[in-house]
Amino acid sequence: MSTDPRKLPIHADARHADVPLEEKQRLFDEVVADTRYHDTLYGCYECGICVAACPSARFYDFSPRVFAQTLARKDVHGFYELLVDSVWDCSQCFSCTRCPRQNSPGGLITIMREVAVNNGLQSAKDALAAYSRVIYKVMSTGTQVSPDMLQPDFFPDWGPDVQAVSDNLETWRRAIPTETLHTLELAWDVSEKTRVELFLIWKLTGNFDMIEKIDESSYLILEEIMEELLEEHGYDFDDIESII
Ligand code: SF4
Ligand code: SF4
Repeated sequence: MSTDPRKLPIHADARHADVPLEEKQRLFDEVVADTRYHDTLYGCYECGICVAACPSARFYDFSPRVFAQTLARKDVHGFYELLVDSVWDCSQCFSCTRCPRQNSPGGLITIMREVAVNNGLQSAKDALAAYSRVIYKVMSTGTQVSPDMLQPDFFPDWGPDVQAVSDNLETWRRAIPTETLHTLELAWDVSEKTRVELFLIWKLTGNFDMIEKIDESSYLILEEIMEELLEEHGYDFDDIESII
């Protein structure tokens, strides 16, 4: 790991306990068993093209090549180290898909993140804790970060400009020509029909259940909101699979 403070990983302060080899192997096997896995890794020339294209590699002690090589070598210890740390430094931009071997390190990382979340790893909880408000907002309203979240104590890492924005939020929003954007609690208005569709997609794809693994209290609040709206529209929340 680099000692250059400008290139420390996002979660450099996180310390995660080691686990027995069998547990690392189990997690590794879960990644390999994913149906997408064999379309993301075909070996590695060690050419470094993915590293040159990767924005995260510029700012963190992070390398998409290391992911490709570690998994191709079936290095289970190295895999576990990536799983509990570097896996959260990827921007998921997929610039690395220009790999001449058709690898997708970003795709490998997507699978690894899902395995980390589905197994409720503490490292995943720590990495995603800062996003709990965003996840809650997206899943409850169907829109992304809302203006009223632009407060310095919500996002201390956004710098001093956040204070100026939050002080004049109402004025900024009213200056936007489109009337439906004059709200503070929503990024924009989302129709009830769209929210029902989003809730069904999240529920049926298992995305909603993933929230329970990393943030149970948000899950319980969201469950209540979704259940109420879906049942208003005639869906049985506890037997949602029956609509397929
Ligand atoms: S998807 Fe991740 S690994 Fe690939 S280029 Fe983007 S940041 Fe780098
Ligand atoms: S671009 Fe592909 S082949 Fe080259 S180092 Fe990255 S993963 Fe390996």
